[in-house]
Amino acid sequence: MPEYGQVTQELRGKLEEIVGDKHVSESPEDLEKHAIDESLEPPHPPEVVVSPGSTEEVSAVMRLAYSERIPVTPQGSRTGLSGGSHPVFGGIALNLERMNSILEIDEENLMAVVEPGVLIVDLHAETEKLGLLYPPDPGQESGSLGGNISTNAGGVRGMKYGVTRDFVHGLEAVLPSGEVITMGGKIVKNSTAYSLLDLIIGSEGTLAVVTKATLRLVPKPRHTALVFVPFDSTRDAANTVSEIVRRKVVPYALEYMPRHAVETAQRYLERKLPDDSHPAYLLIAVEGNTVDEVESQLETVGEVCLEMGAEDAYVADTAAKQEQLWEGRKCLFDAYKAFWEIDEVDACVPRKHIPDYIEGAEVAAERHGVIVSNVGHAGDGNVHSIIARGELDEETWREVLDAVIGELIDLALSLGGTISGEHGLGLAKKRYLPRQVEEAQIELMRGIKRAFDPHNILNPGKVFDL
Ligand SMILES: Cc1cc2nc3c(=O)[nH]c(=O)nc-3n(C[C@H](O)[C@H](O)[C@H](O)COP(=O)(O)OP(=O)(O)OC[C@H]3O[C@@H](n4cnc5c(N)ncnc54)[C@H](O)[C@@H]3O)c2cc1C
Repeated sequence: MPEYGQVTQELRGKLEEIVGDKHVSESPEDLEKHAIDESLEPPHPPEVVVSPGSTEEVSAVMRLAYSERIPVTPQGSRTGLSGGSHPVFGGIALNLERMNSILEIDEENLMAVVEPGVLIVDLHAETEKLGLLYPPDPGQESGSLGGNISTNAGGVRGMKYGVTRDFVHGLEAVLPSGEVITMGGKIVKNSTAYSLLDLIIGSEGTLAVVTKATLRLVPKPRHTALVFVPFDSTRDAANTVSEIVRRKVVPYALEYMPRHAVETAQRYLERKLPDDSHPAYLLIAVEGNTVDEVESQLETVGEVCLEMGAEDAYVADTAAKQEQLWEGRKCLFDAYKAFWEIDEVDACVPRKHIPDYIEGAEVAAERHGVIVSNVGHAGDGNVHSIIARGELDEETWREVLDAVIGELIDLALSLGGTISGEHGLGLAKKRYLPRQVEEAQIELMRGIKRAFDPHNILNPGKVFDL
């Protein structure tokens, strides 16, 4: 365990001088609130919660922490699913919620400039008013853009548009020493030297604190349509995903739901979805600038689904009906959490191996007597396996959970996949990293971490062991 300094009364006084006394808190409620994210990891309370309001304040806090060797854990909205924002070694929880201004939406350059605490739902609302779209769309809309950037978040539009990394063109960040660096900007191309910007994206708050971001926008397509298609087997539904793409239609979202997920959503929402009598479902969303464009994509999607064994399709042709269907998909994490103790694996596999992954996961679930509901972003191969305790007693659940997670990760890796598609490794999945990458790669990562953070004060204990 690294040797760290303590948050003394004197240090607390210096923090208050930097950010103002009402933005430094040691209240039990605040320490409890900032000890956890949405993962199943046990709480890790910080010694103090500090909420800076500007880059200068972040920089001054980091300079102080650096000189006193205090661990600092950057936190956005704490909706992460891998324990990334847990202050494992106590110290300072650096709460970035106050830095929540959309500084600019530049319609000529199609870029937005934001502070890290802006919620993704707010950026979506502001850009949409101007007919623009920031495509990354992680299911948790109260996540912050700083958190999204630091986990390289994805979401339902990943299939067509990619993930957060594909939209970050500039960053301002504070190094552990307190120095402020700026990378990129409102530029579309950038081949100048090493891309530290790309290193910081997805680094889960271990290299630098993101204090400002320049994000690329696109024109928002005018029309959308959504269909909910029941299938008689998992394999038929999963194979349909690749077949749609082979026919040159790229839906903006293509989500998979097994019957168990549909039933769980209905129970949670206390209302019916259009069908719950089939083993597997696809939710397919297309978009375009004209009604014809959307209809021609829908036609191809419909043909493929029928050829692949679907007997029916429910088309949501109004915004309200689309919203209701999306709610059925987007509530699933909360729905499972409401009824069972759960954990999750967000492995990502090449799209054509989705049937193999889903079937393998179902076999593992049956062998271990747990519920595994494979839901989510089938279009980009990032099916989330929600593992629910079901009828198991506490002791057996604890024993089998580790085995199931390990098996699902091994299954994904054997299919050419990756441990995490969008949630990151944080604390919860870091021990699996050696299963995917060679020791030589981890050693390179350790070297990068030491170059940024020689005293290991920024979000220590995450992603890999030093
Ligand atoms: C119901 C539900 C659905 C979800 N759906 C999706 C989904 O579809 N796709 C997806 O990708 N994720 C999803 N998530 C996970 C989560 O919302 C994302 O990981 C999100 O990006 C986290 O943002 P946050 O602000 O809550 O970050 P936090 O949880 O606070 O932090 C996440 C990580 O980022 C670091 N960090 C935060 N802010 C900064 C900063 N300014 N500078 C440096 N490091 C920072 C933290 O140290 C931590 O390592 C979902 C979560 C839930 C609960």
